[in-house]
Amino acid sequence: MRFTSTRALADIESAQAITQGISADGGLFVPKAFPALTDDLIDRLCDMDYQGRAFEILRLYLTDFTDEEIRDSVAAAYTGKFEHEQPAPLHPLRDGVFMLELWHGPTCAFKDMALQLLPQLLTRSAKKVADGKTMVILVATSGDTGKAALDGFADVPDTNIIVFYPQDGVSPMQKLQMTTQAGNNVAVCAIKGNFDDAQTGVKQIFADPAMHKLLDEHNMEFSSANSINFGRLVPQIVYYVSVYCDLLKNGTLQKGEGFNIVVPTGNFGNILAGFYAKQMGIPIRRFICASNQNNVLTDFIQTGVYDRNRAFYTTTSPSMDILISSNLERLLFHLYDGDTSAVSGLMQQLAETGKYEISDLARQRLQELFFGGFCNDDQTAATIRKLFNNDGYLCDTHTAVAAKVFEDYQTQTGDLTPAVIVSTASPYKFAKSVLTAIDDGVRPQTEFEMTDRLAAVTKTAVPAALGDLKSRPVLHTACCDKTQMAAFIRQSLGL
Ligand SMILES: *Cc1c(COP(=O)(O)O)cnc(C)c1O
Repeated sequence: MRFTSTRALADIESAQAITQGISADGGLFVPKAFPALTDDLIDRLCDMDYQGRAFEILRLYLTDFTDEEIRDSVAAAYTGKFEHEQPAPLHPLRDGVFMLELWHGPTCAFKDMALQLLPQLLTRSAKKVADGKTMVILVATSGDTGKAALDGFADVPDTNIIVFYPQDGVSPMQKLQMTTQAGNNVAVCAIKGNFDDAQTGVKQIFADPAMHKLLDEHNMEFSSANSINFGRLVPQIVYYVSVYCDLLKNGTLQKGEGFNIVVPTGNFGNILAGFYAKQMGIPIRRFICASNQNNVLTDFIQTGVYDRNRAFYTTTSPSMDILISSNLERLLFHLYDGDTSAVSGLMQQLAETGKYEISDLARQRLQELFFGGFCNDDQTAATIRKLFNNDGYLCDTHTAVAAKVFEDYQTQTGDLTPAVIVSTASPYKFAKSVLTAIDDGVRPQTEFEMTDRLAAVTKTAVPAALGDLKSRPVLHTACCDKTQMAAFIRQSLGL
């Protein structure tokens, strides 16, 4: 498969796209065409386990990798790393509604699905196109990406990983997960700002020729583990194909019958992977895009106007506290039939005015497929409580946002198409909010007392990876101004 940038025509292989992360013109790499899943292949996929399905999907995109490279990458990513042998279990919620649980990996959020595999793909890609160089992975995180990337890249040879997170914008558990990360190639820094500041800072450093020159002189090269990297997206396509196979196998769907997906959305990576699965032939009918109070995507889907000039809210679903959804640029590219100058124009307007409006045709296409909705923190808490009491299902705040927006969608449309709600984090990562939602007792003080109490009240188990944190020393305490990110990078790389 060949790849182009969303902002100017390019023609590169997947190894190049994954190594580079982002195009020099500031655009994102997208496949030039989508491989089609034949009926025969889907039949075969249905008989495979998750790793087999992942292998078959990846090889359609990574045509410059050998089968052996792909098979080894998949095995390294998913063998023994997840709580169950099947990394993405489907939990029936009620008739025709399922929770796709993507958080049984080492850091208890769905980012593991991609970030256990990305280091495998990236190191093999770098060997192909930048042999002998040390890759410097820059990450801006709203909480979950940071830890998942640290876990995936820690002590991976020929890589360094540097993570920036908003000082006051992550949950205590998320912060502890990052600040206790061991590894001889890791650096973690809080910034005085929000996630968008962190993401903008990282993008500026990527686009800074002087920094590139400096790294080059030391035989290093930047790459990205954020969902702007195609190597993050392709593993996410797999679970949308896989869930279709599971729905065929459990009798919910007959071949070709459609289903809806509901995705708690921030940077638009997860839901975009679903859109890519649809382009390959998976019959996803509607994409229900769920936001929290930072509802820039809801407005965009409803009006065709993207406007980030608005208040930024810190919510109980911090991984979705985002006003600039990077991967939306990829969707625009497809809505505009690959018109790179149209996409560049919109992105320029976004950079200059914080706002753009898409064409009538693009808006019609968007609205045919996507439904946007949002809810506030009170509604999120009420939904956690309701799901627990009525359905016996304990979910985290992000997943609750999706469940609430799905409820609103069904009320508004009466659409009873089978649906998959993407469950993106363990409730224990957001123990305070979850406990407050379901337990009226006096709330304990510390994070670990809260997780223990949550376990007692709900008769579920604290994931081992989170319980362990209690005994880990804090190793990373740096905090810098958002203008000082480049200096932190130079310092941690010893440049
Ligand atoms: C990252 C994240 C999201 C948002 O996913 P995007 O791909 O950025 O849209 C939702 N929920 C959780 C728990 C996350 O970690």
